[in-house]
Amino acid sequence: MLDRLKPQSPDALLALIKLYAADERADKIDLGVGVYRTNEGDTPVFAAIKAAEARLVAEQDSKSYLGPEGDLGFVHALMPYVFGDDPTMGGRIEGMQTPGGTGAVRLAVAVAKQAGVTAIHMGTPSWPNHAQILSDVVIDFKPFDHANDDGTANIDTVLQVIRAASEGEAVLLHGCCHNPTGIDYTDDQWDAIAAAFADSAALPILDIAYQGLGHGLDEDAYGIRKVLAAVPEALVAYSCDKNFGMYRDRVGALYVMARDADGLPAILSNLNALARASWSMPPDHGGAAVRVILNDADMTAQWLEELATMRARMRRVRDRLAEAGDVGSLDLRPLGHQNGLFSVLPLSKDQIQQLRDDHAIYMAGSGRINIAGLHQGNIDKFISALAEVTG
Ligand code: PMP
Repeated sequence: MLDRLKPQSPDALLALIKLYAADERADKIDLGVGVYRTNEGDTPVFAAIKAAEARLVAEQDSKSYLGPEGDLGFVHALMPYVFGDDPTMGGRIEGMQTPGGTGAVRLAVAVAKQAGVTAIHMGTPSWPNHAQILSDVVIDFKPFDHANDDGTANIDTVLQVIRAASEGEAVLLHGCCHNPTGIDYTDDQWDAIAAAFADSAALPILDIAYQGLGHGLDEDAYGIRKVLAAVPEALVAYSCDKNFGMYRDRVGALYVMARDADGLPAILSNLNALARASWSMPPDHGGAAVRVILNDADMTAQWLEELATMRARMRRVRDRLAEAGDVGSLDLRPLGHQNGLFSVLPLSKDQIQQLRDDHAIYMAGSGRINIAGLHQGNIDKFISALAEVTG
């Protein structure tokens, strides 16, 4: 039976990691894998997380089961950061912990399907796992172009899609720091998106995996808060894996906003049943560590400082790239007003290969680069290599 299975193509980024590891050139540059790196090229555990973990080890008195909803202390402590001053929208928002943002997206799509959603609109390119999840949950995926050639968001199309979407359809948008393009909606564009949702039957599904890595925690939540204020119902998938540096610990949450508080229990019971059938309950450790931080003023201050340092470093890299302006056939200026860990360079397959072969620069085949893979010590080399392969 199992021998009927056909081999699946390996994950392209994981293959790239192996090639990079095997490259012996001392000045190699990894712009592939999507993790934050310091100026020294490291991805350290946050000091705030270390402090929270130390307290957890000392004080945790049981590892008995929680429920499918995980650590609700974590889920609730995060809410003011995501939703702002009225974090439950008058009792209409509740959430549950999930295995990373991936688990949250998966659960969002699955519960949307259970509620009768038959198609999901989403801008492309997107995080590749979005399409994989939609296909795996077996829901119709309707792509539209996310970006214009000049590196700005294709706002006309997204507004059209939202307005034209009918009952039984959802629109999935990235909350901030779009992966892979770095192209976010401006505040004015979010205002228009919120107004379009208000006039549409479509269910908004908002995926926010990089809050605080764009312009700031509140700034990066602008779009989510605007949309939620305008619509009766929404799903919000959240990841703490980037903004707390918890990648492998799989820390995420799914929030649901119901039409009214009375509608929440039925929705949550569906989420619980779906989670139970998928992973039973989420891994505890990372969410517990985030809860400890958010319930302690000193640790919270430390986390905010670490997040601000990351954000400022990525902004410096973006500013330096934008300053370079025209590089070979590329215009790097748009990278200066894009956000977060990623941007996409319009390079051909040959140019990407040449960067790897001749300059030991590794990036995804889509031209996506991890901004945090660049630093003072390698950015000039990167810019001149781009000039060479595209000139
Ligand atoms: N959504 C988007 C847009 C992402 O880029 C990612 C992470 N790459 C996720 C969700 C999932 O994050 P996690 O690692 O927490 O599963």
